[in-house]
Amino acid sequence: MKILVISDIHANLTALEAVLSSAGAFDAAWCLGDLVGYGPDPNECVERVRALPNLICLQGNHDDAVGPFGNIAEFNDDARAALLITRGMLTAENIAYLGSLPETAERETFTLAHGSPRRPVWEYIMEPYTAQANFSYIQTDHAIVGHTHIPMIFTQDRLRKKIHSFTPKGNTPITLQDRCILNPGSVGQPRDNDPRASFAILDPDALTWEIRRVAYDIQSVQKRILEKGLPEREALRLAAGW
Ligand code: ZN
Repeated sequence: MKILVISDIHANLTALEAVLSSAGAFDAAWCLGDLVGYGPDPNECVERVRALPNLICLQGNHDDAVGPFGNIAEFNDDARAALLITRGMLTAENIAYLGSLPETAERETFTLAHGSPRRPVWEYIMEPYTAQANFSYIQTDHAIVGHTHIPMIFTQDRLRKKIHSFTPKGNTPITLQDRCILNPGSVGQPRDNDPRASFAILDPDALTWEIRRVAYDIQSVQKRILEKGLPEREALRLAAGW
């Protein structure tokens, strides 16, 4: 069983297409949310994700914010400006789809959320303290989250006391032994100083997890960002991965 795990696509169709072609065949796709926001291609990304086989798709904070009752006050100025433009670009059908997405899901031994199991849409799991607090919110052995745009693994020891965090090496499958919280990184706006799109391949039977990175045509996305009147910062950051 091969599952494509993606998150934080952020309306970057070029990065999404690069991920889908480099992933090869897969049996199911798990998308952890933030299909839109920041980038130039929100409708195309929603429609591409919706068509993936055996899809589980969760709601991210940007997906929530583009809805008619979405709260955009919590975003920084550029993100908010991008969200307002994104709202204007999205079709009513795609806004309704994003609004209908669940905040969490559970499959096999995995709990899925955009931000964290404790506060699914908004909380960032960046360090061991927050990871530890979140382990008590899951009934499963493993959780997969996005939202930070940084590929990362937090493991909890068998006594459930110690948390170890590390950045997994790309293209190297890891066998999951302890309880862990996994983050596949971001397809459309990586923030770990590596501008390549990030995603993961999960085998839930063999319990292996592999981070993969793929280069894509960043300049073409930057051009579309500027053409659509989105903030320049959202174009600049793609080239350096911040
Ligand atoms: Zn995001």
